[in-house]
Amino acid sequence: MSLESLYARPKLLLVDDREENLLALTAVLNEDYDLIEAKSGHEALSHVRDHEFVAILLDVQMPEMDGFETAHEIRKIERAKTTPIIFVTAIHQTEAYAHRGFDVGAIDYLFKPIDTVILKAKLSILADLFRKNIEVRHHSKRLNEQILREKETELLKEQLAARDEFLAMASHELKTPITPLNLQTQAFLKLLESEDFERVDREVLKRMIRTSIRQIERLSDTITKLLDVSRFTSGNIRMSLSEVDLTELVNRVTNSFAIQLESQECHLKINSPGPVIGVMDSFRIEQVLINLLTNAMKYGSGKPIEIEIKNLGEFIEFSVRDYGIGIAPEDQTRIFKRFERASSPTNYGGLGLGLYIANEIIRGHNGTLTVESEYGSGAKFIVQLPVEFI
Ligand code: ADP
Repeated sequence: MSLESLYARPKLLLVDDREENLLALTAVLNEDYDLIEAKSGHEALSHVRDHEFVAILLDVQMPEMDGFETAHEIRKIERAKTTPIIFVTAIHQTEAYAHRGFDVGAIDYLFKPIDTVILKAKLSILADLFRKNIEVRHHSKRLNEQILREKETELLKEQLAARDEFLAMASHELKTPITPLNLQTQAFLKLLESEDFERVDREVLKRMIRTSIRQIERLSDTITKLLDVSRFTSGNIRMSLSEVDLTELVNRVTNSFAIQLESQECHLKINSPGPVIGVMDSFRIEQVLINLLTNAMKYGSGKPIEIEIKNLGEFIEFSVRDYGIGIAPEDQTRIFKRFERASSPTNYGGLGLGLYIANEIIRGHNGTLTVESEYGSGAKFIVQLPVEFI
């Protein structure tokens, strides 16, 4: 029932085993209240479970369950814990008798024959209180709705701002390699068209092509990350598992970085006990290592990088350690979340996706990716994978 109709015509429960008593009360109260009648305690309880009443007029002397017992049971029903109960009795009050009624939650006693003027006056006070209560509930409902609406608007604004920031970041990351790529290709075309192309040093040409390849790789890496992040977010990722030698995987990946490491004059040291076998998706684990190694080169201030592989029995481990800018303690958890960056995007660029993707891949293997770092002294990212991945 709506608050409005409860407000206009509150419900009143009349409980009496005698038809004539109910009829008499109905005649007096019908105009102002929506009356519901019960001829026994049990019937009264079932109405109390279904409706909210302004008050309950409860006959004390009833067969089977008397008024006291009924009141006792009514108080156990959540919605009727505070509904005013007025006992109606033919027996004249003794103190002990009245106490019994008040003990089970009565707020008043009326004696038969009922003085209808007094009854109406008492009920009218209760109805006023009931209406006030409804008004308060109505206001607080409105207020809650308004707060909810404001929160939703706020959330929407935040989502829009996050989307705009992401679009700006993504387009910046996509555009950054395109400018040098464009310039290199134009310069290359100019050289090709020039008359002394034959005399151009082959090393110069190679360098130009290599620069272009690096930009293309950067573009392709950004696009892969953007695609991966949407796949991981929608849970749409499949692992292709096989037995893999981690040492062999690390050697293969780091060899493909040889030129980049050399051009940055960055020394890489690999520490491995020999073949370390585990079950994993080798393509995905390569991706993790590439992300960690690229970060170590990017944030490692050109200092040496160390990769260590370990066999820990039930787990196998590899870690990538650099001696660069490091990560402040307060950033060490959030950098694994989507789009989170701890360093200035102006100095370093980046989408804040690499560690999120790496972490999702490792979680998908039931493993862990953790970081140990001191701000200013470098960082060590540690991957542990269960040997037998189920
Ligand atoms: P990004 O593309 O921005 O590098 P990542 O998810 O790979 O995205 O890294 C998130 C953030 O974590 C980076 O922006 C950087 O602030 C910090 N970070 C990651 N690796 C390192 C590292 N080896 N040393 C210092 N900071 C790091």
